[in-house]
Amino acid sequence: MKPSYTDFDATELFCPKCKKAMPVRKRLLLILPQGDKYDYNCAFCGTSVGNKLVKENGNLNVILN
Ligand SMILES: [Zn+2]
Repeated sequence: MKPSYTDFDATELFCPKCKKAMPVRKRLLLILPQGDKYDYNCAFCGTSVGNKLVKENGNLNVILN
């Protein structure tokens, strides 16, 4: 069974500064008791375009700015 959620690693997110979907860079921001928090930055201008919490059990919570 494949998970039904979509992991947006190695994809594009809308950048408010560039005003279009841009490639993103992922970086580990925090290690929380609930999971690892990753921050996504526009590869072009560096603006934070979203973040993601990866839980230890493999479930994902995607929180976009
Ligand atoms: Zn940008």
